[in-house]
Amino acid sequence: MNETTARILEGAPARDAVLARVAGRLAAAGSPVVRLATVLVGNDAPSRRYVASKHAVAGEVGIGSLQVELPADTTQAALEDRVARLATDESVHGILVQMPLPAHLDAERVLALIPAAKDVDGLTEASLGRLMRGVPGHVGCTPLGVIELLAHYGIATAGRHAVVVGRSLLVGLPLSVLLARKGIDATATLAHSRSQNLVEVCRSADIIVSATGVAHSIGVAHVKPGAVVIDVGISRTERGIVGDVDLAAIAGVASAVTPMPGGTGLMTVACLMSNTLDAAAMQGVL
Ligand code: NDP
Repeated sequence: MNETTARILEGAPARDAVLARVAGRLAAAGSPVVRLATVLVGNDAPSRRYVASKHAVAGEVGIGSLQVELPADTTQAALEDRVARLATDESVHGILVQMPLPAHLDAERVLALIPAAKDVDGLTEASLGRLMRGVPGHVGCTPLGVIELLAHYGIATAGRHAVVVGRSLLVGLPLSVLLARKGIDATATLAHSRSQNLVEVCRSADIIVSATGVAHSIGVAHVKPGAVVIDVGISRTERGIVGDVDLAAIAGVASAVTPMPGGTGLMTVACLMSNTLDAAAMQGVL
């Protein structure tokens, strides 16, 4: 194990800063009623925990909640009917359908029912299209959280080489677009399971963001001395939650690294709250 010299980029202070901004915006607008609806299908334990933590944080900052729970054998028609009703419910400003859905359900058809203004998860075609075009819209909470965390800790991105490992629509792909956006200005590389020479690709990075879910797959060989390493991956092991990054191995080489748990996950939930406020603003509530 290397001696720890890397700065540990704890999620909690960055999360608190985002949540304080949310609470401040709500108060400044006269504390209007803003409501987030979640839709949970089935009994997947991690999904249930994620949804519960989203509602707990919403309550802390003064955002109202509607928790829709449907049984694992819900039909496509029943799910679509419920989401369609949320879409037209003027008392609901943000809609989040917790993924993954049970295998018999078609997520695309469900997402297509969520109006862009209420799409606080940033997963619909409209939101992803807006991201690509650089026009206002909701950006996924996890990619947004990574950007907020970098900004909170004053990590420079302009002109630097950022390598994102993992190309999902939820995390890696939108994050690579955000990193390369004007104003953030990184040179973004998007790597994935078919990338050749991943070690060398990562070693050329000033900033590595790993979002694969492959436990401890980013080690000392991947990290250029002084690089910043952001861990998004979550693996549940007998030792508890483990990230993609072998923090103990790289802590003597990287200049800064996020812990897992206690890093990016906290930012994801905080950014859901700021997206919900943005959603309310788009609907004329504040
Ligand atoms: P997906 O399974 O949708 O995507 C994983 C990506 O990683 C794919 O693009 C895949 O490549 C790539 N990949 C898999 N194995 C390797 C490998 N050995 N080398 C390089 N690339 C690889 O997952 P998600 O994007 O939804 O989630 C990624 C991780 O982030 C998960 O662990 C998830 O739990 C976690 N997560 C964490 C959040 C947080 O707040 N911290 C929020 C959301 C997710 P390919 O496309 O070629 O298959």
